[in-house]
Amino acid sequence: MSLAACHDAPQINVRQERGQREVFCGLTGIVWLHRKIQDAFFLVVGSRTCAHLIQSAAGVMIFAEPRFATAIIDERDLAGLADIDDELDRVVTRLIERRPEIKLLFLVGSCPSEVIKLDLSRAAQRLSQRMTPAVRVLAYSGSGIETTFTQGEDACLAALVPPSPRAGADAPPSLLVVGALADAVEDQFRRYFADMGIERVDFLPARHAADMPAIGPNTRFLLAQPFLADTARALEALGARHLPAAFPLGAEGTQLWLAAAAKAFGVHDALFENAISSARSRARASLARHRARLEGKRIFFFPDSQLEAPIARFLARECGMELVEIGMPYLHRRHLAEELALLPAGVPIVEGQDVERQLDRCRESAPDLVVCGLGLANPLEAEGFATKWSIELVFTPVQGFEQAADLAELFARPLMRRELLEV
Ligand code: SF4
Repeated sequence: MSLAACHDAPQINVRQERGQREVFCGLTGIVWLHRKIQDAFFLVVGSRTCAHLIQSAAGVMIFAEPRFATAIIDERDLAGLADIDDELDRVVTRLIERRPEIKLLFLVGSCPSEVIKLDLSRAAQRLSQRMTPAVRVLAYSGSGIETTFTQGEDACLAALVPPSPRAGADAPPSLLVVGALADAVEDQFRRYFADMGIERVDFLPARHAADMPAIGPNTRFLLAQPFLADTARALEALGARHLPAAFPLGAEGTQLWLAAAAKAFGVHDALFENAISSARSRARASLARHRARLEGKRIFFFPDSQLEAPIARFLARECGMELVEIGMPYLHRRHLAEELALLPAGVPIVEGQDVERQLDRCRESAPDLVVCGLGLANPLEAEGFATKWSIELVFTPVQGFEQAADLAELFARPLMRRELLEV
């Protein structure tokens, strides 16, 4: 284990830890991405384990035909008895014949497909050529080796960038919001940008395959999620420019995030204030009742979602919680610079994981609330800790002024439950 200072935020100490990790794989992202892109289908090329993971994470859809499935690599494929490319073509052809409403098909790689070195990018190109213009086929990896569960979204969005339409150097400036948001949250943000007078606003991913935004040197992009490093790199490769900002979590984060767009698009302060002031006041007022419950409570973050830094900032600054340790799977120093600068000085940040040591520190510090993945939550609850599943932070609409109280409530609820159990 080594101790290193974070250069971008001198008051923050970042310790790196390498050891056994407790994470879910990137296939998990399919659960929220298939709801967001309404004419997309996610075909995992994997094993029965992958199929079980997706089924149990997404639940069984009774009323609608699911828009995800697993093409299972079986013994015949592994033994080379079947031509795996032919098998895949056959599965995809049958799927598209049955489901003509699908306009965008993702071939999602997994640990098994990577172990046998199945080239899904080449397969996607081949199938796309054959099926164009009715269906576009793209590939990305959701493999669980050395990833976190939110990286599935990053890989998916990064795959969408190269085939997106291009906006030339003479195109008017446009704002691109990057990261899957609930439709209601997206609509709220659209209204704020419209009220500020920012006219050209797109979201990645779009709700339909045909509406993916045009990208070019006059595109300025705001990240709505902190785990989109590959997507940001793909956008920058096309000339788009990142707007550094805190993330839109809580009243303060949302204001700072919107302010970054306002500054880039030359919105006057008075117009900006006018656009956000009443929603910000409502958000602050709605937070008050949760603050009463959360204030002074000590919270410990295990590394899982990559949302840890902005959530910790929100809970410390707007809800009065005390941060014991912020574990993060990765620390993207540039994308998180604004967040790190807002964290209380001296808060311990641990990048990476050595789960046994972290469990020891957690037990020793006896926090009031632990934020962690599903695998750790049950054992910790059994030991008497109140826990919050970090995966809920991507399944629940939490961004924006209107959701600030819901975000605080996610953390207040386990404390309330434990208080009731202790009575
Ligand atoms: S991709 Fe890997 S980690 Fe994820 S379910 Fe499949 S085998 Fe497991």
